[in-house]
Amino acid sequence: TMARPRWRIPGRVSRACGPLPRWHGPVRQRIIAGAMSLAWITAAAASAPHVSLTGGNGCLLAVLFVSALLVRLSRRGCAASGSPVSTSGVWELPAAVLIPSALAFIAPVVVAAIACWRIRRVPRGLDAVAVGLADGIVSVGFHALAPPLPAPGARAGEWLLAVAVAGVMRWALIGAVFPSVTRGARLPRWPADRELLRGGLAELCAGVLVTCSAVISPLCVILAVPLATPLQRSLQHARLVRDARTDLKTGLLNAAAWQEEAAAEITRAVRARLPLAMALLDIDYFKAVNDTHGHLAGDQALRAVAGVVKAQLRGYDIAGRFGGEEFAVVLPHTQADQARRIAERLRTAVAAADVGASETGRCGTRVRVTVSVGVACLADTGAGLQALLAAADAALYDAKAAGRNRVRLTASQPAASA
Ligand code: GH3
Ligand code: MG
Ligand code: MG
Repeated sequence: TMARPRWRIPGRVSRACGPLPRWHGPVRQRIIAGAMSLAWITAAAASAPHVSLTGGNGCLLAVLFVSALLVRLSRRGCAASGSPVSTSGVWELPAAVLIPSALAFIAPVVVAAIACWRIRRVPRGLDAVAVGLADGIVSVGFHALAPPLPAPGARAGEWLLAVAVAGVMRWALIGAVFPSVTRGARLPRWPADRELLRGGLAELCAGVLVTCSAVISPLCVILAVPLATPLQRSLQHARLVRDARTDLKTGLLNAAAWQEEAAAEITRAVRARLPLAMALLDIDYFKAVNDTHGHLAGDQALRAVAGVVKAQLRGYDIAGRFGGEEFAVVLPHTQADQARRIAERLRTAVAAADVGASETGRCGTRVRVTVSVGVACLADTGAGLQALLAAADAALYDAKAAGRNRVRLTASQPAASA
């Protein structure tokens, strides 16, 4: 039945059928969030009466506070990466180490609250509390265990090491608490989160340097402020590059990145006289999927099909989202009959897969789709991306015309004239 297309807000949909939003999430998460907030309130209340600032401390705190705030406020748009790591540690580590512990609990939360009020995006209250708690704990630990501040001229290696350890502890505490209460965040893993860990290391080193130089003069902290922006940008760089090449809906390469990689692979195959094939997939009657089940279910189906395609391919095949509901795959080292087998495998896998739940129908109504596949081989077309694409597109058109849910190869003839 063809119903009117329906657009819905994600929250309502997920409540109806899909995964639950955070406040309906596991009880464990809510307990941790509650316990953390309570611990922070208790610590802040207990330490508030002990807040006392000498002249030097007050000056340092003011400089750190203003620096942190300046950097936070200039970070518009850089946040929301779901990562516990940012450049805020550059200011919070010196505060935790050099300022009385009572303030270490409170100061980061105040900075976060002001930034939150100004930017209204991130950090959320709970994240700020996690940071405040971690900073306070590290501060108490540092003041209890670290060696005394070395006299001028004395060797400061031990003290520097203690500062670095405090920085690592702070990171570990935030990293351990953060993912359990923050939507989307998780502990970084090697090697997948290489960039995140590198960023964390950069933040840690900068924090240690600022701490050590702040001992000489609070003015040294100001010198670090201009460095924070490039550091923050470099932390974002890897993610931006990845996002610029990725189709965010399906996680496959986007059209531009796919074309770039496909062209390079074709050039390589031509030079090395290796076989290569290309497959274009188009979901059958996808407009009807949208009309019947809603566009969100359509998007979910797209993601699912992309997942099936990716799972069926070899590591060196290059898959991308070519257009709306069209996918393109370059199959290196692949002759015509093998390409047909792979395309057939893709087709049957998609047809067999559950690609999501209906948004408009009863909960539990499953959605299935099929794909038509056009395959072209380098040996049968002119060398070059455009020639291969044109041939695969013509084959796809044949597959659609022949009734859909099938694979067609370009007729084997030298030098495509189409
Ligand atoms: P066939 O290919 O079998 O001829 O029929 P079709 O209905 O799939 O063909 P057509 O190319 O006319 O329609 C493609 C539809 O895909 C139109 C558009 O609404 C839908 N579409 C394209 N991109 C997206 C997307 O990102 N999300 C959703 N939900 N739908 C999309
Ligand atoms: Mg289609
Ligand atoms: Mg199409």
